[in-house]
Amino acid sequence: MAINSARLQQTLQKLAEYGALPDGGTTRLTYSREFMQAQEYLRQEMEQAGMTTEIDAAGNLIGTLRGKQPQLPAVMSGSHLDTVPQGGNFDGVLGIAAALEVARSWQEDGYMPQRSLQVIATAEEEGTAFGMACFGVRVRSGEFKGRQADEIKCTSRAGTLADCLREAGLPQDALSSAACGFGNLAAFVELHIEQGAELDEQEREVGIVTHIVGYDRLHITFCGEANHAGTTAMHRRRDAAAAGAEVIIAVRDLARQDRRFVATVGKFTVEPNVPNIVPGRVSLCVETRSYDDAILQEVRGQVLRIIEQAAAANGVIWQTDGDFHVSAVPLSERLVTTASEEAERLHLDYLALPSWAGHDTQIFAGAGIPAVMLFVPSVRGISHAAAEYSTPENIFRCSCLLDAVLQRLTNEI
Ligand SMILES: [Zn+2]
Repeated sequence: MAINSARLQQTLQKLAEYGALPDGGTTRLTYSREFMQAQEYLRQEMEQAGMTTEIDAAGNLIGTLRGKQPQLPAVMSGSHLDTVPQGGNFDGVLGIAAALEVARSWQEDGYMPQRSLQVIATAEEEGTAFGMACFGVRVRSGEFKGRQADEIKCTSRAGTLADCLREAGLPQDALSSAACGFGNLAAFVELHIEQGAELDEQEREVGIVTHIVGYDRLHITFCGEANHAGTTAMHRRRDAAAAGAEVIIAVRDLARQDRRFVATVGKFTVEPNVPNIVPGRVSLCVETRSYDDAILQEVRGQVLRIIEQAAAANGVIWQTDGDFHVSAVPLSERLVTTASEEAERLHLDYLALPSWAGHDTQIFAGAGIPAVMLFVPSVRGISHAAAEYSTPENIFRCSCLLDAVLQRLTNEI
């Protein structure tokens, strides 16, 4: 029983054709024609690999390779089929192609584990269509049960989820009819590209993910005084943009000293934003991410002190415009141990690390399903771009690890 590296690469190349862009990379937005065609290709491949298939009303495709004891909860593996606009050829699809390849190799050898193996190609993980990440699996988990498709507005185009479903030929009651839950799963394993540069820089072959980071967003406004940029002497100014700039630099310096979290001011709006007026008002958002909520809480206090100091130093006042917190998700220690043991047995040079990006896995883990992720090194840490790349050698190594982990989990009773 062996992973066929050439066949896996062919699957990836085939998937990259659905939404291929002239300059490389892919745009395959959920429910688009390319998305539905890619899904149909995968469905056929799954059936050829001896799987039964199901497409739920939210657009998640699930193939099942029957185990000896199909009444037991199955083990599921896979990732997302959608891409961001002008995305790469590995983010998401690699996890589907690898899990499919495991199923193909098992079927080829007539191998039947105790539990069934399910392969999933999820919809709308990137959050492009409705501004909500992991949308497809969240619908399946029942999070939107009772809501109507026309209440969910598109963020990437005009219209609502109801329009998208209609165009994709999916039923209008998707939010409730697809909400069948993941209760009947023994484990979930997602193989994915790292998207960061940690594994590549350290020249590791595989990553085993221990946590998915949470984040904390603090929206604030500095209010100073808009005034003439020539006649207002420097000591009389109440410059809101200067206060905001101090926050950007101080937050950056804080995060540079501590590898347990990262911090970003990615939103910064100046009013009135004209060259000859001292800025009277600035709105900004400080986002911090960490694998540990206690660290996020500690950093929140430090960020608030930085904001107070910047306001005082520039004679401006500040107010909060709201905050948003998503908790860090620890993955299953048992599955991390299983993956580490299998990596050692396969003599793979692996690193245990947190994921600094969100993934479907966090929804499964949040629903109480034992879950783990395997990372394939991303060359130079590039993702969400045409230059996204992982070597066939590392893809093969990580897929062999996925195969070994899935064999263990499907036979544990
Ligand atoms: Zn992804």
